[in-house]
Amino acid sequence: MIDANFAALLYLLSGVLFILALRGLSSPSSSRRGNLLGMVGMAIAIVTTLLVAAPGDWISWILILGGLGLGGGIGAFIARQVKMTDMPQLVAAFHSLVGLAAVFVAAAALYAPEAFEIGVPGAIHAQALIEMSIGVAIGAFTFTGSVIAFAKLNGNMSGKPIILPARHLIHIVLAIVLLALIWAFTVSAEPVLFWLITIVALVLGGLMIIPIGGADMPVVVSMLNSYSGWAAAGIGFTLGNTALIITGALVGSSGAILSYIMCKAMNRSFISVILGGFGGDASVSSGGAEEDRPVKQGAAEDAAFLMRNAGKVIIVPGYGMAVAQAQHALREMADLLKSAGVEVRYAIHPVAGRMPGHMNVLLAEANVPYDEVFELEDINSEFAQADVAFVIGANDVTNPAAKTDKTSPIYGMPVLNVEDAGTVLFIKRGMAAGYAGVQNELFFRDNTMMLFGDAKKVTEEIVKSLGH
Ligand code: NAP
Repeated sequence: MIDANFAALLYLLSGVLFILALRGLSSPSSSRRGNLLGMVGMAIAIVTTLLVAAPGDWISWILILGGLGLGGGIGAFIARQVKMTDMPQLVAAFHSLVGLAAVFVAAAALYAPEAFEIGVPGAIHAQALIEMSIGVAIGAFTFTGSVIAFAKLNGNMSGKPIILPARHLIHIVLAIVLLALIWAFTVSAEPVLFWLITIVALVLGGLMIIPIGGADMPVVVSMLNSYSGWAAAGIGFTLGNTALIITGALVGSSGAILSYIMCKAMNRSFISVILGGFGGDASVSSGGAEEDRPVKQGAAEDAAFLMRNAGKVIIVPGYGMAVAQAQHALREMADLLKSAGVEVRYAIHPVAGRMPGHMNVLLAEANVPYDEVFELEDINSEFAQADVAFVIGANDVTNPAAKTDKTSPIYGMPVLNVEDAGTVLFIKRGMAAGYAGVQNELFFRDNTMMLFGDAKKVTEEIVKSLGH
């Protein structure tokens, strides 16, 4: 229905829109526009594919549009239901489907090569065989890896690192077998080798992710995101679809960059994440040891009094704020403080919460002005001038052990220097540890006051006290 040159132009346009979408998503103020550009790019790519792939073939149109409606409908339904804190496991579940799709497309290309214009059964072009075998290997690996990541994040499987004996040796042997099978398949095109590649990659994907602990799982999800992108790019080559190659490459490289940024923010090397063995139980994030040492406890009224009389308050949000959905009450509290003449700022740690940008998204949802929100490196020196550091549902990202205790699993991670403030207020439900499963010495310090309770409830009580 449209000629190949015009289709290529439209695919290029959608590729440019995807790049602009990523650019827009890099800041909360432009993220809506970025999302919109991505949606327009995707709409153009889908319509172009329909026009190119099935001109006048109504059965194919019905099948494609039916699949689109069904998948889109289920996706929209799930996206509306899912809680923000459950987003990492949802992303893992979606990646598993991308991996599975790569396996199915490669299998279809193997059994019906003429439909893909890559040869005839038994005589498939060598280049297509290479693309197919790499695509199916990455796809199968991504599938089982993502299923395990989902199970760990969702609490269906323990988030604790599971150390299997001789695991590194087993992984290396399986990886070598996989490479040998890929080579054998590309020279012989034997379907049995194709399925052996699939099976070995499925096993390797599961075995590689099982030892990785809950604390590293978001990095793993981002890494699997990257793999699913490369798998999609592989399918793009098999299908000869430029838009899919561009999109896959964008997802692949942005996922890899994100994994790198997260590793850097947690001071973990990428290799040590992949080799596994770090972190507490993701499904019971607060499962650390409770302590009997005395702490100074306060009530909402005490916090309200301290902050109303402060010159400067720095708010440090964390995972607990997300769980309690306390961002709206928090903004109300900040508004009241500002109207009382207190300077209020928000300090965001790069890995606060459970996914990159988690806190920024929640604060933006509560309409917190962007110019009050600061990244760690921009605000860390300001705690010394603050009268109060108000830590709401954050723990690991404030833990000074990261600076001083070489044996701590979070040693080396940059942390927010909340202890430099005149008083540190911590809202949390009890004395439980954070995600990394380590105790925070700050709870026991003289200039710390613990406000025990649900983050939203306590903040609402503070708002009430401030209003009086
Ligand atoms: P955190 O260390 O996990 O601490 C969160 C605290 O919130 C817990 O100690 C918990 O204590 C409290 N809490 C939970 N529910 C609450 C509620 N309803 N009301 C009040 N408090 C509640 O969180 P964080 O300081 O944000 O640090 C993030 C951690 O995740 C880091 O270890 C980071 O490395 C890891 N991580 C993050 C990412 C990312 O991309 N953001 C990626 C990988 C790893 P109680 O149970 O006592 O209430």
